[in-house]
Amino acid sequence: MSLPALVEPAAELSVDEVRRYSRHLIIPDVGMTGQKRLKNAKVLVIGAGGLGSPALLYLAAAGVGTLGIAEFDEVDESNLQRQIIHGQSDVGRPKAVSAAESIAEANPLVNVVVHAERLDNDNVMRIFEGYDLIVDGTDNFATRYMVNDAAYFLGIPYVWGSIYRFDGQASVFAPTLVEGAPCYRCLYPEPPPPGMVPSCAEGGVLGVLCASIGSIQVNEAIKLLTGAGDPAIGKLVIYDALELEWRKLKVRKDPNCALCGENPTVTGLIDYETFCGAISEEAADAAAGSTISVTQLEGMLKEREEGTRDFVLIDVREPNEYEINKIPGAVLMPKGDFLNGSALEQLPSIDSGTQVVLHCKSGVRSAEVLAIVQGAGYDDAVHVGGGVVAWVNQIDPSQPSY
Ligand SMILES: [Zn+2]
Repeated sequence: MSLPALVEPAAELSVDEVRRYSRHLIIPDVGMTGQKRLKNAKVLVIGAGGLGSPALLYLAAAGVGTLGIAEFDEVDESNLQRQIIHGQSDVGRPKAVSAAESIAEANPLVNVVVHAERLDNDNVMRIFEGYDLIVDGTDNFATRYMVNDAAYFLGIPYVWGSIYRFDGQASVFAPTLVEGAPCYRCLYPEPPPPGMVPSCAEGGVLGVLCASIGSIQVNEAIKLLTGAGDPAIGKLVIYDALELEWRKLKVRKDPNCALCGENPTVTGLIDYETFCGAISEEAADAAAGSTISVTQLEGMLKEREEGTRDFVLIDVREPNEYEINKIPGAVLMPKGDFLNGSALEQLPSIDSGTQVVLHCKSGVRSAEVLAIVQGAGYDDAVHVGGGVVAWVNQIDPSQPSY
């Protein structure tokens, strides 16, 4: 189903613009009018990371007149494998500033608006307001639900994308624009249980996958802005890079959707961190009073060397992560082995009095495992707050972070 263009055309294109966009102008579905619509368009891209990098560059090159960047983070070396809008000399600089500079180089005619703040309930409505379209490149569930809800309340359509390892998904959500069109909550009414779905930082992402999905998002954005073609409203695009397979599934509006359904229960912004539960209740209970700092761990490791203390330090990350950096003396037993019970058999017996100390990358997975280990009777088990990230930052900066 084609839709009317989201944006009215600008009055005219300058001679420079006609030269620059000539390959668009000769496409019948875009043409002079479509290009004038792009010039008049205001698009907000959330995140200048994996998806935001190609999205921002292609939206800028395409001649979108006003591009907003919502990004609070700084460029890290581990971003450069996929976040191609940033370069080596940008490491340590704000991503929003680095992205704005790359856009100015790609197309100086674009008006860039930088929102260098973390999106939250207090600012999201103010930041979104005035944009014609949003491109969501966020990488966490709490922000994703917040973007969905805020866009719905403001009546702004948005293009969503997500990436993980070799798998990507994309869709367009416009429930206020098209009757019967679903929102993100219709597709995913509830976030996955905390600890079940690893983030890109935990699970990894193929760099070029960002370009595959980011370019699909720009493709859909241009169609919506100009009215060309048939946007992916009510359709879920699924990409499997390993099989080189694209699939398109129908997504229906859920009449019971908490946001856009017949009897909505979400009628304003909610507490998204709690809704998505960064950490499960069991894990939070286990970690309360059973969390040690990396400095404490350093002291304990010295005592173990001197023979005055007995404990086993267990790293519950994945083998690939263990290869990148590690806390000396840690034994690798991935979280999955605790979930299926096989790791419990390898623990020292409860009677031996050997304490179990767990750590992961940042302390989320180790808290989940702590709940399992304490539940198995290891009452004095503890986990390391901040995990190996804190260890590298505070104790051993010679190791790489990721
Ligand atoms: Zn919905």
